[in-house]
Amino acid sequence: MIAPRFGFTKHFQKERNTEPYCRLRKMFCGFKDQARARLLMDFPGSYVPIPLVQSYRSLRSVTHGLSILMYHQVGAFAPMREHRSTYCDVRRFAAQMAWLHRFGYSVLRLDDALDALAGRRPLPPRAVVITFDDGYENFYTHAWPVLERHGFPATVYLIAGMLGQPSHWFAADGRDTPPLMGPERIRELHRAGVDFGSHSVTHAKLTEIDHVAARQEIEDSKAMLEDVLGAPVRHFCYPFGRHDRAIVELARAAGYASGTTCVRATAQIGWDALALPRKAVSYGDSALGMAYKLHFKHAPKPRPGEVWGPRPGGL
Ligand SMILES: [Zn+2]
Repeated sequence: MIAPRFGFTKHFQKERNTEPYCRLRKMFCGFKDQARARLLMDFPGSYVPIPLVQSYRSLRSVTHGLSILMYHQVGAFAPMREHRSTYCDVRRFAAQMAWLHRFGYSVLRLDDALDALAGRRPLPPRAVVITFDDGYENFYTHAWPVLERHGFPATVYLIAGMLGQPSHWFAADGRDTPPLMGPERIRELHRAGVDFGSHSVTHAKLTEIDHVAARQEIEDSKAMLEDVLGAPVRHFCYPFGRHDRAIVELARAAGYASGTTCVRATAQIGWDALALPRKAVSYGDSALGMAYKLHFKHAPKPRPGEVWGPRPGGL
């Protein structure tokens, strides 16, 4: 008989009694076979032992649909209490991507995922799309090398009127204002295979400005970014997630193939591509925390008026 070996590291001791871990432990191990299989997962400075599976296959059946992960900044940051959903420590990011790789998630280009949601190709199991809002230079320095190592595609949403500038909107609440990528960097990454979408011209809350101004933000940013890239810009991301039915229809009319929101859910076949839900990965999320969000966190938590789900009138 194999004796259980649980040399929990300091990090893991903190995590082992958290709700995500308990639920995953229950799902994978059934408490009886903890020693049967274990995976040592690389984690910065320590190891997170993930007691695996008698029933590894159960992972395959847990989630149906498409999970779109939402990141903002990736880098090394001082611990924070607020705005955690817009920062990701680069070591945790590396662990999260390693998780996706090791467990065989299907990390798709957004265009391929849209084809699957529209029923034009099969949606693979554990389908994931990785997105980054705002287009920080730290995408290039910290996130891209990790993505490249795993061969994972990603979509980065750019603020068309602020390329190469500091992210000045953070100044209002006393945060750092890291630089956004400039045109040269964007073209370099585009050549390397990164997909770019629009995140408006000025990062405006589109539901809080008038209809004409919102249309300009949506349409002009598309044209501006197409000039920079010399290629079509097919995807839009609503700044701050602010959208409603009217804004979604503006994005559709402007010719975008997709629009991503901050509504939390796993997108299903037949859902409206112009109002796609996402899962925000937060500063506090380990690889395990990210997996928990992928598989269990489905409560949408929309603001009033926000829309998602099946497209009105069908596909
Ligand atoms: Zn943004």
